[in-house]
Amino acid sequence: MSLESFFNPQSIAIVGASRQKSKVGYEILANIVKAGYKGGIFPVNPNTDTIEGIKCYPDLESIPDTPDLVIIIVPAKIVPPVMQQCAKVGVKSVIIITAGFREVGEEGRALEKQVVQIAKQAGIRVIGPNCLGLIVPANKLNASFGGDLPAAGAIAYLSQSGALLAAILDTANAAGIGFSKLVSIGNKADIDELDIIKALAADKDTKVIAGYLESIADGDEFVRQAERISHTKPIILIKSGGTQAGAKAASSHTGSLAGSETAYESAFERAGIVRCDSIRQQFDYAQAFANQPLPGGPGVAVITNAGGPGIMAADAIEREGLSFARLTKETEEKLASRLPAAANWHNPIDILGDALADRYEFALDVVLDDPNVDVVLVLLTPQAMTEPARTAEVIVKTARSKRKKPVLACFLGAAKVREGVEILRRGKIPPYDTTQGAVSTIKVMVDYVRWRSRPKRVVKLFPVNRRKVENIVERHLRQDILDIGEAESKEILEAYGFVTPKGSLATTADQAANIAQQIGYPVVLKIWSPDILHKSDVGGVKVGLASEHEVRDAFDLMIYRIPKKLPDAHILGVLVQEMCRKGKEVILGMHRDPHFGPLMMFGMGGIMVEVLKDVSFYLAPLTAEEAKQMLVNTKTYRILQGVRGDEGVDVDKIAEGLQRLSQLVTEFPQIREMDINPYVVGREGTTPIAVDARISLER
Ligand code: ADP
Ligand code: MG
Repeated sequence: MSLESFFNPQSIAIVGASRQKSKVGYEILANIVKAGYKGGIFPVNPNTDTIEGIKCYPDLESIPDTPDLVIIIVPAKIVPPVMQQCAKVGVKSVIIITAGFREVGEEGRALEKQVVQIAKQAGIRVIGPNCLGLIVPANKLNASFGGDLPAAGAIAYLSQSGALLAAILDTANAAGIGFSKLVSIGNKADIDELDIIKALAADKDTKVIAGYLESIADGDEFVRQAERISHTKPIILIKSGGTQAGAKAASSHTGSLAGSETAYESAFERAGIVRCDSIRQQFDYAQAFANQPLPGGPGVAVITNAGGPGIMAADAIEREGLSFARLTKETEEKLASRLPAAANWHNPIDILGDALADRYEFALDVVLDDPNVDVVLVLLTPQAMTEPARTAEVIVKTARSKRKKPVLACFLGAAKVREGVEILRRGKIPPYDTTQGAVSTIKVMVDYVRWRSRPKRVVKLFPVNRRKVENIVERHLRQDILDIGEAESKEILEAYGFVTPKGSLATTADQAANIAQQIGYPVVLKIWSPDILHKSDVGGVKVGLASEHEVRDAFDLMIYRIPKKLPDAHILGVLVQEMCRKGKEVILGMHRDPHFGPLMMFGMGGIMVEVLKDVSFYLAPLTAEEAKQMLVNTKTYRILQGVRGDEGVDVDKIAEGLQRLSQLVTEFPQIREMDINPYVVGREGTTPIAVDARISLER
């Protein structure tokens, strides 16, 4: 969908334009005029002849031409009849500024529905309602009541909060940051965040897409499209507000450990979206992406006129996992030949406190030519002899003469560096006022490049017995049983290639002893009841039973004691199970997120998982690399690899388990959540065993 008639309309009608200066209906018209918009302007107001000298029309039908874009500011109740008029005269694009719709309750919701219906029928596209409007600096279009027209630039911004957009505009205008488009998306009744992002992806003036979102309409589609778009344009988002649906009570470990933001985090990671916590950080990043080339690698060179900031930058570089570029011998010799003897020509390069602009120019020029340098960070503190403005000029000039590598600058101080910072900004060198700000920007750029060049995602499909699972799932749903018990959970897992312990159900002590005999000692006894979620919590698991006598005792004890503790639990018997060999206990799980679908979990600790909370998440379907990365992302990954003489386990087998589980939950959307806990893994070459499993269904 093209949003051309929104971004570049030939004529605009403002329905609800007003003469009263305190009203939004005045403010928007005044902003359009003040910004210097060149197309036709048609205020609509039946009670006035002119506003600010512009002829007013009583209604849309009286306008001689059909306007390209209609901005509606009338009270909410009058919006539907105005939409009818739009339909009648053939308007195709509408921005509804008016508030008082979905956000105010039932009545508003009904009104919004009515508006959408009219729009759908007439083929009208709508931005809003409840929004601040739209700004396109290059077209001198300020159809908003957000503030003054900003400079033109390569950053596009979309915001779900109108008020926030006003603050962004004010901040950016004060700092001279330019934009390609600014869009307030309001209630997203028709055009949503993805429509806008797609349009911005195709917009030649936009190099970076930034935004503030509180919700995402269609998670799956968003991830798919954003992943595609991120390959050509970075998407930098602030996402606030937890999802309510995600917070609903969970019956699995995975469900209770997944925070409401976990799925968003995974989704953003998958799609290559850069996530920020603050507007400031967002503009730190956006300016660099908009104005500088991408780094070819993680090697940073630092040029500084002071030791302290150099060390601070070095600390930040280490913290962020970046590396100091190793300068070639040639570079170091060149630097040594012209820098004072006291200077340091190893990276970080200290050109000393008395460095004038020419010394910066020389050092930057030499360092940019070094093949081992991917990014240059220039630091400056305003000491007695420093020339901040001149230095800024030579940085701009030198960086421009070698456009291939990004150059960022951090001028510390305030009044003395102000002019220099201005020069940097105008010269498209992103300025930072903290070393950390500059270094985390470099980190984000390096990560983005890495994300873009990662191998194509290939999800392995294992040969499985899908029919068998289909039968079990359908039978449960038919009987309205949503929790699948351990025995059938195991059948499902086996159908997908997992190994589970041998065992069967006993209802008498004799039977239990018989089964134990067949399996071979030692065995495990487990209480068997659809009502008991965590068996060990009620004394329902006894391991290492080595004789018939012990089995009979354990059976009697369970059957006698557990009903006393849980009089309402329906107990079907006791499961007699093969005892697995020793290994490490991990958990594999899945929780279906209402927006983004199956969210996989890996965690350490078996029954201790909710105490340790050492878990990681990622969206299914998983590739082999992603599954492996989930293991690496836990704090105790090294324990799996083996530490201090303790033998490690077969981590690739765990990753394979995650991939198989990912395939299962992708092929069966009826599975709402599930855990395999514990998944007992041994040393390399041994087969992990799914000892316990829980599967919940939904319709
Ligand atoms: P629940 O999670 O309902 O308490 P589990 O079946 O997971 O019950 O058993 C609890 C713990 O008992 C497991 O984490 C594991 O340490 C141990 N266990 C259970 N079954 C076996 C088995 N067949 N072999 C070895 N250990 C077992
Ligand atoms: Mg368990």
